[in-house]
Amino acid sequence: MSAVIELAGVSKTYRGGVTALRDVDLTVEPGELIAIVGPSGSGKSTMLHLIGTLDRPSTGTVRIDGHDVAALSDRQLSALRARRIGFVFQQFHLAPGRDAVATVADGLLYAGVPKKERERRAEAALVRVGLGDRLGHRPHQLSGGERQRVAVARAVAGDPAVLLADEPTGNLDSVSGAAVVDLLRELNTAGTTVLVITHDHEIAGRLPRQVPMLDGRVV
Ligand code: ADP
Repeated sequence: MSAVIELAGVSKTYRGGVTALRDVDLTVEPGELIAIVGPSGSGKSTMLHLIGTLDRPSTGTVRIDGHDVAALSDRQLSALRARRIGFVFQQFHLAPGRDAVATVADGLLYAGVPKKERERRAEAALVRVGLGDRLGHRPHQLSGGERQRVAVARAVAGDPAVLLADEPTGNLDSVSGAAVVDLLRELNTAGTTVLVITHDHEIAGRLPRQVPMLDGRVV
């Protein structure tokens, strides 16, 4: 099988001159569950942004699903991102006032799914993350762990090839955090390739593969 993610000789220097990634190689096969682990400032988020096609490398090659990101227009990149990549962030990023079904359904807008079908898939995704009894709840009516489950449901509703999670447990107590990690494991078992960024070695240690980072390098 061909790699779902391939970074070759990737470096990233931001405007202003900070080099956040130095000559990184990384190959991720379909179905992997990986922790990218390292201290703050080691380049983890930068790497996730490049993999998520939210940013482009300064040098080197990023391939997602076999597509060289540099060869795609912004529009093609948006389409690749919408169809193939799901994101989960530390801060949940849920719109206040939108209930769980609407939030998850919104995530399918860019995939061009009609409204009724969006809602049907949103409900199915929420059931899948264990929130079948919270469909009409808005963010302020949910616990932190439940909010992150809504965000995970939004990320997987479109059935992406890759799920990218940036410190998904960073705002949660240890019990809710462990439950979110278990959920990511379940989604992985069902076939989704999952990358989790964490500075927490205990969480990383519970995942089958660790990619340790330091000073912009994979070590
Ligand atoms: P981590 O996720 O491991 O904490 P980051 O990838 O966020 O690390 O940051 C790596 C380095 O790049 C840090 O020194 C940070 O200050 C710098 N950096 C991150 N984003 C930007 C940006 N948009 N512009 C300039 N420097 C940045």
